[in-house]
Amino acid sequence: MALDQEIKSQLIPYLDYIEGNVVLKVSAGSDETSEKLLDFVREIAELSDKISVEEAGLERTPSFAVDKKEETSGIVFAGLPLGHEFTSLVMALVQVSGRKPKIEDNLIAQIKSIDKKLDFTSYVSLSCHNCPEVVQALNIMAVLNPNITHTMVEGGSFKDEVEAKQIMSVPAVHLNGQEFGSGRMTVEQILSKLGQAADSSELDEKDPYDVLVVGGGPAGSAAAIYAARKGIRTGLLAETMGGQVIETLGIENIIGTKYTEGPKFMAEVAEHIREYPVDVIPAQRAAKLEKKELLELSLDSGATLKSKTVVIATGARWRSIGVPGEQEFKNKGIAYCPHCDGPLFAGKNVAVIGGGNSGVEAAIDLAGIVNHVTVVEFLPELKADIILQKRLRSLSNVAIVTNAQTKEIAGSGKVENLTYTDQQSGEQTTVPVQGVFILIGLMPNTEWLADTVERTKIGEVIVDRHGATNVPGVFAAGDCTDSAYKQIIISMGSGATAALGAFDYLIRNDVQ
Ligand SMILES: Cc1cc2nc3c(=O)[nH]c(=O)nc-3n(C[C@H](O)[C@H](O)[C@H](O)COP(=O)(O)OP(=O)(O)OC[C@H]3O[C@@H](n4cnc5c(N)ncnc54)[C@H](O)[C@@H]3O)c2cc1C
Repeated sequence: MALDQEIKSQLIPYLDYIEGNVVLKVSAGSDETSEKLLDFVREIAELSDKISVEEAGLERTPSFAVDKKEETSGIVFAGLPLGHEFTSLVMALVQVSGRKPKIEDNLIAQIKSIDKKLDFTSYVSLSCHNCPEVVQALNIMAVLNPNITHTMVEGGSFKDEVEAKQIMSVPAVHLNGQEFGSGRMTVEQILSKLGQAADSSELDEKDPYDVLVVGGGPAGSAAAIYAARKGIRTGLLAETMGGQVIETLGIENIIGTKYTEGPKFMAEVAEHIREYPVDVIPAQRAAKLEKKELLELSLDSGATLKSKTVVIATGARWRSIGVPGEQEFKNKGIAYCPHCDGPLFAGKNVAVIGGGNSGVEAAIDLAGIVNHVTVVEFLPELKADIILQKRLRSLSNVAIVTNAQTKEIAGSGKVENLTYTDQQSGEQTTVPVQGVFILIGLMPNTEWLADTVERTKIGEVIVDRHGATNVPGVFAAGDCTDSAYKQIIISMGSGATAALGAFDYLIRNDVQ
């Protein structure tokens, strides 16, 4: 049985959304994965009289296309879409059957207007929680435009292809046979990369806001809800809604919620925002903030928004180590997400740079998949919680080197080794590794602010207990500030503080 009971019970309610007939056209051989895939599609078809199965010859075996009876959709799943990709399959079934994808009408129009042939292939791993967003975005594009096709390739079932294409980071997207992009991508981001960015001129026409929040993570979301609840005109602009949390798999420290997962939690937060009249402006990047008569926020797209107050909540991103090889081998052996990319290094030797909580957690995770893990820590001892260190030290395939300064990541075409210097003896060591996971903390996304607001040496925005910066009317919250700790509930709390601070500022100062 390919579908366990739990998956079946997840699927059944969605089958009601299937509108027209769908045919799963299967290309299968006599190998074990083909047999599993055949069982899988047959079991799905048994659950709905609108789904049938046919044999077909497709480019990859085993794979199956999700089509209408007389019409190809362009969507193919190569390998089994289980794990995080099962939802992508369910959505494809529903959308191919005729149900309109849940995206803005202007995006639908942009996708439909594409008149060139685009054949996308996305390489994924089933444990990658960043992959479904890309798979689902490309499937939507294929459903809406007959010029577009998309094949999801499950890396574990197509190891030779993954190896030949030197794919070492997922999701990896190829367009018409060439590398197109990697990492999470929304429909908006894919369109913008294709040179089909939305017309942003209408943003210039927007009336000034009372509070304009920049950032759609926990801090920005909380700030927007708190501001809107005060009945003031609130806008929220973000490059990627959800922030770092959508990169997080298991979350166990949101008080009152024993366990949740990042994408699910932020989808609930987005739904909560929709309960209020918040003007959400997604897929736009702030480039500059200026204090004129009002505050003026210029965007990368060229548009400018005006507001009486601004809450900066642009969060943080993974810190780069800045050694030779890091840029060159990105997606060619250098990775930042162990959940996503760990399976691509199965049976290989890897290094994890960083002995804090995230580095040690990654090393523990990876030790279960790869052949050997070397943890490289710059300081004389690991900084992770003792409980994590104990777990790490109990693993037989892990080596820990401390006092080690990484000097270079090298190889030809892909990562082959990492060199570090022992800071006490000065001795240089080169470790043969095929992958390097860099987990050395975060840096604030505040470069775009330049000298507009006061920041610490490491770029964190300095705020007071009201969330106010040194510029009247400008507030900040979350991981981009100098708060002592960086966590979801802390960011949400500071987002609420900043919104209330902004509201107080508005009622105490007669800003027109
Ligand atoms: C792998 C991982 C696991 C974690 N696990 C946990 C956990 O279990 N529990 C916990 O409490 N915390 C956890 N954290 C920390 C938590 O995710 C952060 O503290 C929290 O997300 C910070 O929220 P934020 O809103 O300040 O910033 P972010 O979540 O970073 O959001 C920033 C927002 O700003 C946007 N943005 C950035 N620059 C611009 C710009 N120029 N213009 C427009 N928009 C911009 C981004 O697109 C995003 O929407 C984890 C973090 C990581 C990376």
